[in-house]
Amino acid sequence: MSTKKKKLTPKPGIETIKAYQGGKPIEEVKRELGISDIIKLASNENPIGPSPLAMQAIQESAKQAHFYPDGNAYYLKADLAKHLDVTEDQLILTNGSNEVLQLVGETYLGPGDEVIYAEGAFVVYKLVATVCGATPVVVPMQKDTHHLPSMATAITDKTKAIFIANPNNPTGTMVTAAETAQFMAQVPENVLVIFDEAYYEYVSHPDYPQTLPYVMEERNFIITRTFSKIYGLAGLRIGYGIAPPSIIATMNPVRQPFNCNAVAQAAARASLKDTDHVKKSQELNAAGKVFLYTAFDKLGLRYIKTEGNFIMVFVNQPGADLADAMMKKGVIVRAMAGYGYPDAIRVTIGKQEENERFLEALTPLVRSS
Ligand SMILES: *Cc1c(COP(=O)(O)O)cnc(C)c1O
Repeated sequence: MSTKKKKLTPKPGIETIKAYQGGKPIEEVKRELGISDIIKLASNENPIGPSPLAMQAIQESAKQAHFYPDGNAYYLKADLAKHLDVTEDQLILTNGSNEVLQLVGETYLGPGDEVIYAEGAFVVYKLVATVCGATPVVVPMQKDTHHLPSMATAITDKTKAIFIANPNNPTGTMVTAAETAQFMAQVPENVLVIFDEAYYEYVSHPDYPQTLPYVMEERNFIITRTFSKIYGLAGLRIGYGIAPPSIIATMNPVRQPFNCNAVAQAAARASLKDTDHVKKSQELNAAGKVFLYTAFDKLGLRYIKTEGNFIMVFVNQPGADLADAMMKKGVIVRAMAGYGYPDAIRVTIGKQEENERFLEALTPLVRSS
């Protein structure tokens, strides 16, 4: 037997993907730069944090942390079913909504299957398709927005799934109800459509599509939503999928038995009750959006109007350089080169004082176009 180390060969495609780049944690930036006063506007987290009711529930459930969680998330599922006006067999609870995307891959996608998503869409669709050995079919956006007619044109008889982020991260743009209806009329019945609605609770646009009817009509359709964004529970990892019962039943055995931890389940249940906290978060976001738009206008910076809790803004210089310079001033934002926008950054809409601090750091670095 040779003692020489042999390289293990991963499945085809694995070596073409990169690990997901999250926003840098505040503690890491503190360590690296030796500055203590840092704000993070890089990962679309809720700037006012979890609901106080959720924090109470977290403390309570921590006392039971030695028990395995309820693997079927019985109570949370019941609460959610009521909240959404769906049946419990139309729901799957997951470790962040990201896990639904992964379950789609593990359950349905393999070599020979084509997976359609947009260029400049949330990067996880590419990861899922590649890891499963499926073939990514990447369709360009138009006006920084998913262009559903082109995505429909990309469908072949090998197409298995189509991922759509609505609104999209990082562009913040959405497809309308009319566009969605037209698209769904063109999608063959056997193709699975996934609408990723992580920012659903932030959207205020009157033309935003309500996609639940596609689930009710038993189309091959999955909606993903999350407690990570407006509910402020990103650190606990809890999200869900809404789909026809046959799809839920098919995916359910594929997930880990205890994929949703008990503390997260308790926090999510409490969060659903706190409608005031959701409203407060929506209002803060709406006000911060207007405040930042006005400031960008004054600075002569182009930005994309957002339906989420973040804004993509074009900075007329490499976004990575600007993000680095901002970081040195204690403000963490995200560079967007990885999404095909080398001259842009994405900033999460923060609290008023955070938005002001962000602008204070940005203004001296601005180059007009
Ligand atoms: C943040 C985000 C998610 C949610 O991720 P979780 O796993 O629920 O934390 C999903 N899709 C998009 C487009 C996102 O921006």
